[in-house]
Formats: sequence, structure tokens, C-alpha cells
Amino acid sequence: MMPLTEFSLIERYFASITQPASPYVDLAIGDDCCLLSIPDTMQLAQSIDTLNANIHFPAEANADLIAQRALAVSVSDLAAMGASPVAFSLAISMPELSEPWLAAFSRGLQQAARHYGIALIGGDTTKGPLSLTLHVQGVVAKGRALQRHGASVGDCIFVTGSLGDAAAALAFMQGQLPVAKSAQQFFKQRYYQPSARVAVGQSLHDIATAAIDVSDGFIADLGHIARRSAVGAVVDVSLLPVSAELQANASAEQALSYALSGGDDYELCFTAPSDKRAQLLELSELIDVAITEVGTIVAGEGVRCIDEQGREIILSESGYQHF
Ligand SMILES: [Mg+2]
Repeated sequence: MMPLTEFSLIERYFASITQPASPYVDLAIGDDCCLLSIPDTMQLAQSIDTLNANIHFPAEANADLIAQRALAVSVSDLAAMGASPVAFSLAISMPELSEPWLAAFSRGLQQAARHYGIALIGGDTTKGPLSLTLHVQGVVAKGRALQRHGASVGDCIFVTGSLGDAAAALAFMQGQLPVAKSAQQFFKQRYYQPSARVAVGQSLHDIATAAIDVSDGFIADLGHIARRSAVGAVVDVSLLPVSAELQANASAEQALSYALSGGDDYELCFTAPSDKRAQLLELSELIDVAITEVGTIVAGEGVRCIDEQGREIILSESGYQHF
């Protein structure tokens, strides 16, 4: 096979992902830089993520799933700020130039790009261990971005979707968690095709006081809100949204451990005053995404977990235990 130059490679596999055209993108792939124009009323939100094979995703996974996950994970940061996706750049390192791999990768990338309405505007390819770096850009009305620092004592803590599925999926794929055949597809989907909660984030500008996406694990990420807001948080673990599939395939303790500490969920965790509950219920129904109240912001610092009787529980490697 003729070796592909970088240019023809990008042309062949990535040119079509420059759509959907955004009003903010003046020039996409083809020149030395892309050009964007942002209206005075908007701020540009930017985030960059590197995903390394066998650290952040299994190298042997289907390339189209690797692509879909990579873009969703990156767009999730835009969702957490309440920003609307506009454009992204992609740098790929790969050990060899495999056209079937690239074809599948670009197919998955295109599917996710269309889903999130985000266009590829630049890229770079190099030879090396498989690694993806995505730089995403979005827009948000000036001064309206959701941030981590606004939680106040008395605010309620909410989370979208369900927690723990991605961690369970990873454990299943690594042979550490047996999963019934009927649920295997569900878990793989939750890991490879997480739903970046863009519509939720866009709807929270007048509701949330602080927000973050759950990438490191629910407790860890809520901890970021608590620290940046100089408050504490109390989570009632009996309220955590856990999928029926996770409940059916893991012990209660294991499921709780995944939900609290497993990463990769890419749900949104946010705080809001209690008088926003009704609005959140309406929003949840309108956009068909579960939004669950799981705790309260308190004075102090750190995140504490309690059970339904209000008894404090602590997490350990093997799950959790009561004090
Ligand atoms: Mg994040």
C-alpha cells in the first residue's frame, strides 16, 4: 500500500467531520490555523483532554467506540460549564498507519460530532503509542458559565442520570465483575458512549450555583465543588441513582462503591437552592434526563456520606462500612 501523507490522511478520513458548520467558525481544516469569531456577548470555553491507550481506554477496543468515547468525554467538560459545543481539534498518535482502524475511528468520530453538533477544525497526526488529545471549544453567554465555586450552605446537591455504570463496565471488561449476558451491551454502552449532558448544562444557568462533570468519581468531583466553594457536603447514599442493571449485577456494597468512587460516568453534579426543585423536576421531564437530589451543602469542609437513617458511613477499598 502507498504510504499516506499526513495531508491525504486528514483529507480522506476527517474532512467530512468539519460539518456541522458553525456560525463561529470562519475557517476550519486546510490552513495553518483555524479561525473563529466569537460575538462580544459570548465567552469561549475551552478544555483539553489526553486519552492514552491502556490507561484511559482499552487499546484493543473498536476504533469507532474509542472515538465516540473520546469526544463525549471532552464535550462533557463543556456541558459542565453550561457551554454549547462549537468546534474541536484532534491530535492522534498511532503506532502504525492502519486504514481500517482510521476508517472506523473517523466513522465513530463523525457520529459523535453530529450528535453533539461540534465540528472538527484542526488536527495533527504522529507516530507513537496510541494516544488521543482532544481540544474542545464552546460558547457561553458572558458571565453565565457554570463554575465550581458558587455552592452555598443549604443548597441541595443533584446528579444527572445514574452513577457507577462505567466503573462496573470497566471491571466487567477486565474480567473482575461477571455480568449477565443481557446486560453486557448496556454496560459497554455506558462506558464507550457516555452521554455528555449538554442540554442539562445549558438549562442550568438560572438554577445551579455550582457544577462539575463526574469524571474522577462522584465523591471526588463533589469534593472539588466543596473545596472551591469553601463548604462541606453531606450525601445520603440511599438516594444515589443506581441503574437497574448495576443493581442486578453487583452486590449492594459493590454497586455503592462504583457509584461513589468509580469514575468515567460523565454525569453532571450540581448544587442549587431548594426552591429550584420544581424547576428541576420540569427540566428533567422536558429533556428526559433523570435529575436526582442526593444531599445537602453544609458549613465546614469535605464530603461526608450518610445512610438513610442518617448514620455516617466511610468508604474503604472493599466498599463501605459504618462508623
Ligand atoms: Mg471535568
